[in-house]
Amino acid sequence: MNESNLLKIGSQYIDLVGETLSSRGISGKILYVSGPTVDRLYGKKVRRQIEEVGVIKEEYVDHNTIDYAMSVASRAIATDINCIVAMGGGKILDVCKYAAYMTKTPLLSIPTTMANDGIASPIAVLKRRDGKPRSLGCAMPSMLIIDTDIILDSPIELIKAGIGDTISNYTSLLDWEFAVSKNKDEMNGYAYLMSKNALNVLMNTRFDTICAEFVNILGNSLVLSGIAMSFVGSSRPVSGSEHLFSHALDYYSEKKNLHGFQVALGTIAVLKLINMPQDDVVNYLNKFDVNVNPQKMEIDEDTFIFCMQNATEMRKNRYTYLHEIDLSTDRLKKIYKQLVEEL
Ligand SMILES: [Zn+2]
Repeated sequence: MNESNLLKIGSQYIDLVGETLSSRGISGKILYVSGPTVDRLYGKKVRRQIEEVGVIKEEYVDHNTIDYAMSVASRAIATDINCIVAMGGGKILDVCKYAAYMTKTPLLSIPTTMANDGIASPIAVLKRRDGKPRSLGCAMPSMLIIDTDIILDSPIELIKAGIGDTISNYTSLLDWEFAVSKNKDEMNGYAYLMSKNALNVLMNTRFDTICAEFVNILGNSLVLSGIAMSFVGSSRPVSGSEHLFSHALDYYSEKKNLHGFQVALGTIAVLKLINMPQDDVVNYLNKFDVNVNPQKMEIDEDTFIFCMQNATEMRKNRYTYLHEIDLSTDRLKKIYKQLVEEL
Protein backbone atom coordinates (compact mmCIF):
# COMPACT_ATOMS: atom_id res chain seq x y z
CA MET A 1 0.00 0.00 0.00
CA ASN A 2 1.23 3.49 -0.84
CA GLU A 3 2.00 5.28 2.44
CA SER A 4 2.53 8.76 1.02
CA ASN A 5 -0.07 11.42 1.75
CA LEU A 6 -2.70 11.91 -0.90
CA LEU A 7 -4.37 15.27 -1.52
CA LYS A 8 -7.21 16.16 -3.86
CA ILE A 9 -8.81 19.62 -4.05
CA GLY A 10 -11.47 20.51 -6.61
CA SER A 11 -15.06 20.78 -7.72
CA GLN A 12 -17.25 17.67 -7.26
CA TYR A 13 -14.34 15.80 -5.70
CA ILE A 14 -16.72 14.11 -3.27
CA ASP A 15 -17.18 11.63 -6.13
CA LEU A 16 -13.53 10.54 -5.80
CA VAL A 17 -13.94 8.78 -2.42
CA GLY A 18 -14.32 5.28 -3.90
CA GLU A 19 -11.40 5.49 -6.33
CA THR A 20 -9.19 7.08 -3.66
CA LEU A 21 -9.85 4.18 -1.28
CA SER A 22 -9.35 1.50 -3.92
CA SER A 23 -6.17 3.17 -5.23
CA ARG A 24 -4.75 2.71 -1.72
CA GLY A 25 -5.75 -0.96 -1.66
CA ILE A 26 -8.31 -0.40 1.10
CA SER A 27 -11.03 -3.02 1.56
CA GLY A 28 -12.79 -4.88 4.39
CA LYS A 29 -14.36 -2.97 7.25
CA ILE A 30 -14.38 0.80 6.85
CA LEU A 31 -15.59 3.13 9.59
CA TYR A 32 -17.54 6.08 8.20
CA VAL A 33 -17.80 8.94 10.71
CA SER A 34 -19.92 12.04 10.23
CA GLY A 35 -22.54 14.18 11.94
CA PRO A 36 -26.30 14.37 11.35
CA THR A 37 -26.25 17.55 9.23
CA VAL A 38 -23.40 16.70 6.86
CA ASP A 39 -24.58 13.12 6.61
CA ARG A 40 -28.02 14.29 5.51
CA LEU A 41 -26.44 16.55 2.87
CA TYR A 42 -23.66 14.39 1.46
CA GLY A 43 -23.74 11.02 3.28
CA LYS A 44 -25.61 9.10 0.59
CA LYS A 45 -22.88 9.77 -2.01
CA VAL A 46 -20.05 8.81 0.35
CA ARG A 47 -21.72 5.70 1.77
CA ARG A 48 -22.44 4.35 -1.69
CA GLN A 49 -18.77 4.68 -2.69
CA ILE A 50 -17.53 3.08 0.54
CA GLU A 51 -19.87 0.13 0.02
CA GLU A 52 -18.34 -0.45 -3.40
CA VAL A 53 -14.92 -1.16 -1.87
CA GLY A 54 -15.73 -2.58 1.56
CA VAL A 55 -18.14 -3.15 4.42
CA ILE A 56 -19.35 0.04 6.07
CA LYS A 57 -19.62 0.67 9.82
CA GLU A 58 -21.10 3.99 10.84
CA GLU A 59 -20.69 6.40 13.72
CA TYR A 60 -22.06 9.88 14.43
CA VAL A 61 -19.78 12.21 16.33
CA ASP A 62 -21.47 14.81 18.51
CA HIS A 63 -18.71 15.75 20.92
CA ASN A 64 -14.94 16.07 20.85
CA THR A 65 -13.55 14.88 24.16
CA ILE A 66 -10.31 12.94 24.52
CA ASP A 67 -12.28 10.10 26.17
CA TYR A 68 -14.62 9.89 23.22
CA ALA A 69 -11.78 9.84 20.63
CA MET A 70 -10.16 7.01 22.65
CA SER A 71 -13.45 5.09 22.66
CA VAL A 72 -13.72 5.41 18.86
CA ALA A 73 -10.14 4.10 18.65
CA SER A 74 -10.85 1.13 20.91
CA ARG A 75 -14.00 0.19 18.99
CA ALA A 76 -12.04 0.46 15.72
CA ILE A 77 -9.46 -2.01 17.06
CA ALA A 78 -12.10 -4.36 18.51
CA THR A 79 -14.01 -4.53 15.23
CA ASP A 80 -10.98 -4.84 12.87
CA ILE A 81 -11.49 -1.53 11.07
CA ASN A 82 -9.09 -1.11 8.12
CA CYS A 83 -9.72 2.55 7.39
CA ILE A 84 -11.57 5.55 8.82
CA VAL A 85 -13.46 7.91 6.50
CA ALA A 86 -14.27 11.16 8.31
CA MET A 87 -16.56 13.79 6.84
CA GLY A 88 -17.49 17.02 8.63
CA GLY A 89 -16.14 20.05 10.44
CA GLY A 90 -13.28 20.42 12.88
CA LYS A 91 -14.73 18.38 15.76
CA ILE A 92 -15.38 15.27 13.68
CA LEU A 93 -12.04 15.50 11.90
CA ASP A 94 -10.10 16.00 15.13
CA VAL A 95 -11.75 13.01 16.83
CA CYS A 96 -10.94 10.86 13.79
CA LYS A 97 -7.41 12.20 13.36
CA TYR A 98 -6.66 11.15 16.91
CA ALA A 99 -8.46 7.79 16.65
CA ALA A 100 -6.63 7.01 13.38
CA TYR A 101 -3.31 7.93 14.96
CA MET A 102 -3.95 5.75 18.05
CA THR A 103 -4.97 2.75 15.94
CA LYS A 104 -2.41 3.27 13.12
CA THR A 105 -5.33 3.18 10.69
CA PRO A 106 -5.36 5.10 7.39
CA LEU A 107 -7.64 8.14 7.51
CA LEU A 108 -9.53 9.65 4.59
CA SER A 109 -10.56 13.11 5.72
CA ILE A 110 -13.28 15.10 3.92
CA PRO A 111 -13.60 18.56 5.47
CA THR A 112 -16.94 20.27 4.93
CA THR A 113 -15.69 23.59 6.30
CA MET A 114 -12.41 25.52 6.03
CA ALA A 115 -12.47 27.55 9.22
CA ASN A 116 -8.86 26.85 10.26
CA ASP A 117 -5.64 25.09 9.36
CA GLY A 118 -6.61 22.01 11.36
CA ILE A 119 -7.84 20.32 8.17
CA ALA A 120 -4.38 18.97 7.39
CA SER A 121 -2.44 19.57 10.59
CA PRO A 122 -0.80 16.79 12.64
CA ILE A 123 -2.56 18.18 15.73
CA ALA A 124 -5.97 17.28 17.15
CA VAL A 125 -7.68 19.74 19.48
CA LEU A 126 -9.80 17.72 21.92
CA LYS A 127 -11.46 18.53 25.24
CA ARG A 128 -10.26 17.28 28.58
CA ARG A 129 -12.72 16.12 31.26
CA ASP A 130 -12.80 19.65 32.71
CA GLY A 131 -13.88 21.00 29.32
CA LYS A 132 -10.62 22.77 28.51
CA PRO A 133 -9.18 22.22 25.03
CA ARG A 134 -5.91 20.35 24.65
CA SER A 135 -3.75 20.18 21.49
CA LEU A 136 -2.58 16.62 20.96
CA GLY A 137 0.09 15.58 18.51
CA CYS A 138 -1.05 13.03 15.92
CA ALA A 139 -0.54 12.55 12.17
CA MET A 140 -1.77 14.39 9.09
CA PRO A 141 -4.64 12.56 7.37
CA SER A 142 -3.17 10.00 4.97
CA MET A 143 -5.83 10.95 2.41
CA LEU A 144 -7.50 14.35 2.13
CA ILE A 145 -10.30 15.25 -0.26
CA ILE A 146 -11.55 18.85 -0.35
CA ASP A 147 -14.64 19.35 -2.48
CA THR A 148 -14.70 23.07 -3.23
CA ASP A 149 -18.46 22.99 -3.96
CA ILE A 150 -19.16 21.64 -0.47
CA ILE A 151 -16.95 24.34 1.07
CA LEU A 152 -18.76 27.03 -0.93
CA ASP A 153 -22.05 25.72 0.46
CA SER A 154 -20.80 26.07 4.05
CA PRO A 155 -21.49 29.29 6.00
CA ILE A 156 -19.40 32.12 4.52
CA GLU A 157 -18.23 33.15 8.01
CA LEU A 158 -16.36 29.85 8.28
CA ILE A 159 -14.47 30.52 5.03
CA LYS A 160 -13.64 34.03 6.26
CA ALA A 161 -12.33 32.53 9.50
CA GLY A 162 -10.05 30.28 7.41
CA ILE A 163 -8.67 33.42 5.75
CA GLY A 164 -8.00 34.87 9.21
CA ASP A 165 -6.15 31.75 10.39
CA THR A 166 -3.87 31.81 7.33
CA ILE A 167 -3.20 35.55 7.70
CA SER A 168 -2.00 34.89 11.25
CA ASN A 169 1.07 33.16 9.77
CA TYR A 170 2.29 36.74 9.27
CA THR A 171 2.97 37.38 12.96
CA SER A 172 3.68 33.70 13.75
CA LEU A 173 6.71 33.87 11.49
CA LEU A 174 7.87 37.20 12.96
CA ASP A 175 7.58 35.69 16.44
CA TRP A 176 9.49 32.59 15.40
CA GLU A 177 12.36 34.66 13.97
CA PHE A 178 12.35 36.78 17.12
CA ALA A 179 12.48 33.71 19.39
CA VAL A 180 15.39 32.29 17.38
CA SER A 181 17.26 35.62 17.59
CA LYS A 182 16.90 35.43 21.38
CA ASN A 183 18.10 31.81 21.50
CA LYS A 184 14.70 30.69 22.74
CA ASP A 185 13.87 28.40 19.82
CA GLU A 186 15.35 26.68 16.78
CA MET A 187 14.65 27.51 13.16
CA ASN A 188 13.50 24.92 10.64
CA GLY A 189 13.98 26.39 7.17
CA TYR A 190 11.63 24.00 5.39
CA ALA A 191 8.79 24.63 7.82
CA TYR A 192 9.39 28.39 7.71
CA LEU A 193 9.28 28.38 3.91
CA MET A 194 6.13 26.28 3.86
CA SER A 195 4.30 28.59 6.27
CA LYS A 196 5.49 31.66 4.36
CA ASN A 197 4.26 30.09 1.12
CA ALA A 198 0.87 29.37 2.67
CA LEU A 199 0.62 33.06 3.51
CA ASN A 200 1.95 34.36 0.17
CA VAL A 201 -0.23 32.09 -1.95
CA LEU A 202 -3.25 33.63 -0.26
CA MET A 203 -2.02 37.22 -0.03
CA ASN A 204 -1.02 37.31 -3.70
CA THR A 205 -4.19 35.82 -5.13
CA ARG A 206 -5.73 37.78 -8.00
CA PHE A 207 -9.25 37.01 -6.76
CA ASP A 208 -11.13 39.51 -4.64
CA THR A 209 -14.30 37.57 -3.91
CA ILE A 210 -14.92 34.20 -2.29
CA CYS A 211 -15.41 32.19 -5.50
CA ALA A 212 -14.62 28.54 -6.33
CA GLU A 213 -11.08 29.39 -7.51
CA PHE A 214 -10.40 31.35 -4.34
CA VAL A 215 -11.64 28.47 -2.16
CA ASN A 216 -9.23 26.21 -4.02
CA ILE A 217 -6.34 28.57 -3.18
CA LEU A 218 -7.43 28.88 0.45
CA GLY A 219 -7.56 25.07 0.65
CA ASN A 220 -4.00 24.88 -0.66
CA SER A 221 -2.85 27.50 1.85
CA LEU A 222 -4.42 25.70 4.80
CA VAL A 223 -2.84 22.42 3.72
CA LEU A 224 0.57 24.10 3.35
CA SER A 225 0.21 25.38 6.92
CA GLY A 226 -0.52 21.80 8.01
CA ILE A 227 2.60 20.55 6.22
CA ALA A 228 4.66 23.30 7.88
CA MET A 229 3.51 22.01 11.28
CA SER A 230 4.31 18.41 10.35
CA PHE A 231 7.93 19.39 9.53
CA VAL A 232 8.57 20.51 13.09
CA GLY A 233 5.97 18.40 14.91
CA SER A 234 4.43 21.48 16.50
CA SER A 235 2.31 24.49 15.59
CA ARG A 236 5.31 26.87 15.83
CA PRO A 237 5.35 27.88 12.11
CA VAL A 238 1.71 28.99 12.17
CA SER A 239 1.09 29.99 15.77
CA GLY A 240 2.73 32.88 17.59
CA SER A 241 1.66 35.76 19.83
CA GLU A 242 -1.66 36.21 17.98
CA HIS A 243 -2.56 32.59 18.82
CA LEU A 244 -1.55 33.03 22.46
CA PHE A 245 -3.91 36.02 22.60
CA SER A 246 -6.67 33.93 21.01
CA HIS A 247 -6.08 31.08 23.50
CA ALA A 248 -6.40 33.64 26.31
CA LEU A 249 -9.74 34.78 24.83
CA ASP A 250 -10.90 31.14 24.68
CA TYR A 251 -9.93 30.74 28.31
CA TYR A 252 -11.09 34.00 29.86
CA SER A 253 -13.70 35.61 27.61
CA GLU A 254 -17.41 34.88 27.94
CA LYS A 255 -18.01 35.69 24.29
CA LYS A 256 -17.03 32.92 21.88
CA ASN A 257 -15.75 33.99 18.46
CA LEU A 258 -14.36 31.84 15.66
CA HIS A 259 -10.67 31.03 16.10
CA GLY A 260 -9.76 32.53 12.71
CA PHE A 261 -11.26 35.92 13.61
CA GLN A 262 -9.56 36.01 17.01
CA VAL A 263 -6.11 35.26 15.59
CA ALA A 264 -6.59 37.82 12.78
CA LEU A 265 -7.46 40.47 15.39
CA GLY A 266 -4.40 39.32 17.35
CA THR A 267 -2.24 39.67 14.24
CA ILE A 268 -3.20 43.32 13.69
CA ALA A 269 -2.94 44.15 17.41
CA VAL A 270 0.52 42.58 17.68
CA LEU A 271 1.73 44.39 14.54
CA LYS A 272 0.70 47.63 16.24
CA LEU A 273 2.44 46.59 19.46
CA ILE A 274 5.72 45.90 17.67
CA ASN A 275 5.40 49.04 15.50
CA MET A 276 5.17 47.22 12.18
CA PRO A 277 2.91 48.34 9.30
CA GLN A 278 -0.53 46.70 9.27
CA ASP A 279 -1.85 48.00 5.95
CA ASP A 280 -1.26 44.85 3.89
CA VAL A 281 -3.09 42.66 6.37
CA VAL A 282 -5.93 45.11 7.04
CA ASN A 283 -6.52 45.82 3.35
CA TYR A 284 -6.53 42.13 2.56
CA LEU A 285 -9.08 41.33 5.27
CA ASN A 286 -11.24 44.27 4.14
CA LYS A 287 -11.19 43.00 0.57
CA PHE A 288 -12.90 39.78 1.69
CA ASP A 289 -15.09 41.55 4.22
CA VAL A 290 -13.43 39.81 7.16
CA ASN A 291 -14.44 42.13 10.00
CA VAL A 292 -12.36 41.73 13.15
CA ASN A 293 -13.31 44.94 14.91
CA PRO A 294 -13.08 44.02 18.62
CA GLN A 295 -16.31 45.84 19.43
CA LYS A 296 -18.18 43.96 16.73
CA MET A 297 -16.68 40.75 18.13
CA GLU A 298 -17.97 41.80 21.57
CA ILE A 299 -14.49 41.85 23.08
CA ASP A 300 -14.52 44.77 25.50
CA GLU A 301 -11.49 46.86 26.46
CA ASP A 302 -10.89 45.11 29.79
CA THR A 303 -11.00 41.65 28.21
CA PHE A 304 -8.68 42.74 25.40
CA ILE A 305 -6.14 44.17 27.84
CA PHE A 306 -6.33 41.23 30.26
CA CYS A 307 -5.92 38.67 27.46
CA MET A 308 -2.94 40.49 25.92
CA GLN A 309 -1.27 40.81 29.30
CA ASN A 310 -1.86 37.15 30.16
CA ALA A 311 -1.33 35.62 26.72
CA THR A 312 2.19 34.35 27.45
CA GLU A 313 0.76 32.21 30.27
CA MET A 314 -1.18 30.17 27.73
CA ARG A 315 1.78 28.21 26.43
CA LYS A 316 4.98 28.03 28.39
CA ASN A 317 7.38 27.12 25.60
CA ARG A 318 6.17 29.53 22.92
CA TYR A 319 8.51 32.53 23.11
CA THR A 320 7.16 35.60 21.28
CA TYR A 321 7.40 39.38 21.14
CA LEU A 322 4.78 39.50 23.89
CA HIS A 323 7.43 38.25 26.31
CA GLU A 324 9.52 41.40 25.90
CA ILE A 325 7.43 44.36 24.73
CA ASP A 326 5.60 47.02 26.75
CA LEU A 327 2.14 45.67 27.58
CA SER A 328 1.17 48.41 30.01
CA THR A 329 -2.54 49.05 30.48
CA ASP A 330 -2.24 52.61 29.12
CA ARG A 331 -0.56 51.44 25.93
CA LEU A 332 -3.07 48.63 25.39
CA LYS A 333 -5.95 51.06 25.97
CA LYS A 334 -4.63 53.23 23.13
CA ILE A 335 -4.25 50.25 20.83
CA TYR A 336 -7.74 48.97 21.62
CA LYS A 337 -9.15 52.40 20.77
CA GLN A 338 -7.27 52.44 17.45
CA LEU A 339 -8.52 48.94 16.58
CA VAL A 340 -12.13 49.95 17.28
CA GLU A 341 -11.77 53.06 15.11
CA GLU A 342 -9.77 51.57 12.26
CA LEU A 343 -11.19 48.09 11.72
ZN1 LIG B 1 -4.85 28.73 14.09
